[in-house]
Amino acid sequence: MASPIFLVGPTPADHESTAQLEKHLREAGLHESAEETAAREDVLRDLQGIVDRWVKRLTTQREYPDGMAEHATALLLPFGSYRLGVHGRGADIDALVVGPAYVDRHHDFFDVLGGVLAETEAVTELQLVPGAYVPVIKMRFRGVQVDLLYASVCLPAVPSDLDLRGRSVLCGLDMATVRSLNGVRVADEILRLVPDAGAFRTTLRCVKHWAKARGIYSNAMGFVGGVGWAILVARVCQLYPNAAPSMLVPRFFRIFSQWKWPNPVMLREIEHDDDGGEMPLGLPVWDPRRNPSDGSHLMPVITPAYPCMNSCYNVSRATLRTMTPEFEAAHKVCQEIAVAGAWDALFRPFNFFKAYKSYLRVDVKVAGGEEDLREWKGWVESRLRQLVVRVEMATAGMLLCHPHPHAYAAKPHDDDRRRVSSFFVGLSKPAPSPQQPQQPPQFDLRLTTQEFKDEVYTYAFWRPGMELDVSHTRRKDLPPYVLEQILPADRLKRKRSDDGSGNSESSPSPSSRASKRAAAAGRIGSSPESET
Ligand code: ATP
Ligand code: MG
Repeated sequence: MASPIFLVGPTPADHESTAQLEKHLREAGLHESAEETAAREDVLRDLQGIVDRWVKRLTTQREYPDGMAEHATALLLPFGSYRLGVHGRGADIDALVVGPAYVDRHHDFFDVLGGVLAETEAVTELQLVPGAYVPVIKMRFRGVQVDLLYASVCLPAVPSDLDLRGRSVLCGLDMATVRSLNGVRVADEILRLVPDAGAFRTTLRCVKHWAKARGIYSNAMGFVGGVGWAILVARVCQLYPNAAPSMLVPRFFRIFSQWKWPNPVMLREIEHDDDGGEMPLGLPVWDPRRNPSDGSHLMPVITPAYPCMNSCYNVSRATLRTMTPEFEAAHKVCQEIAVAGAWDALFRPFNFFKAYKSYLRVDVKVAGGEEDLREWKGWVESRLRQLVVRVEMATAGMLLCHPHPHAYAAKPHDDDRRRVSSFFVGLSKPAPSPQQPQQPPQFDLRLTTQEFKDEVYTYAFWRPGMELDVSHTRRKDLPPYVLEQILPADRLKRKRSDDGSGNSESSPSPSSRASKRAAAAGRIGSSPESET
């Protein structure tokens, strides 16, 4: 591991610039109000009460010796951005429930606790996902999004000061439990490894704000997610241990605009089973020298707790190609900020619908209302990066794909349970270069999109009414419910009067009929070639 490369601390001008940056982040609404913080704490306290009663009841029902039920408890440990202290307004709470050995995930957590939560008035949008890579109960608790994981540790009772740092806590556990526990272990390890938690937090808030503005914040879509950004920022903090955030932010962009991927970013040496330290557990650890498949990862950003994993495993050629110019542009902007001093230039939103003329439009449709839409859309979203990978492969990388991390929902009619929500993937061809002077050919993506649809329809809980359409669309043919959300009101009005329509709601107006026809004409399934 490289030691720090610069030990100098901030000048008064750096302090002043940091104050400006913090002011900007506050004004952008990134910090919670005192009431919002209190509301989150209430949610965690109430959830702790619920899981406590749940474990006590299970202990009583299983007729363990007297007194055991009284002392039986489960710990509720927040992790993710909340534990790191960088959660923004409206961010989710990620929390881990740690229970004793005799309380299992399958029945006790999902069936019994899931049942309790379903009966709890404060809980809405409850979704149980036992088959996920990291099994999770998702819900809103008094409106706050909560992702609840479960780990049963090999102990008859869970002490309130349970030490999760050592490897021994993982002994005898399955991988789903190890992954669940590692959310907390990784967050704690990141905080332990950064030299100045305050500087780390401000810098990370700034980087997350930038990544969201530029449309490159999403682990599911193949960009970088919360923990990936945290590790990247933590690494820069290690290299400049005495620097203030106003110094760390430009250095962050300088370092990662020049980084030679796939060189890994690590906060500490990777711990192996056979390195003579703690007990060997034989869990899979990221290491391209030992596991050749790890060598194919494009952007290794390695979690610091055993067993180390690549938090950016989902990054593909396409998403890396989208992120690289963003790092470069931010590096340039930071050089300008150093002269002009105004931080807002860094957070200019990326205008996705201006950047491309041509898109793949992925319509997620259900017949059964909001709950069904949430479930089906969640599944489609988790598969969407496969569409990008497939298009890249089918076009030998000559068609650049940029998936947009946001979905756009059509407003439903009150008396109708049908719902539609659309994802978009921006398409572009690389400009001719001296190496490749010819224009790339036209591509026919029908087979590729059909294969993607076939894969999505393998969803184990698919029900009639859950539908998926993938079509090629041009910017001028975007559906009205998207235009309403992306165009300023005055431009929307002008566009409607140009189209000769006064109303762009889901009811088929002349203009929406026209755009439907245009979209249908450009649809990959019905035209010989998608013109891109
Ligand atoms: P956000 O503010 O976006 O919620 P977050 O850090 O909480 O940021 P989440 O996407 O909510 O990120 O994930 C919660 C936690 O789950 C992460 O902090 C991390 O511990 C774990 N996690 C999520 N994705 C990954 C991943 N790809 N690799 C390893 N751990 C992950
Ligand atoms: Mg989170």
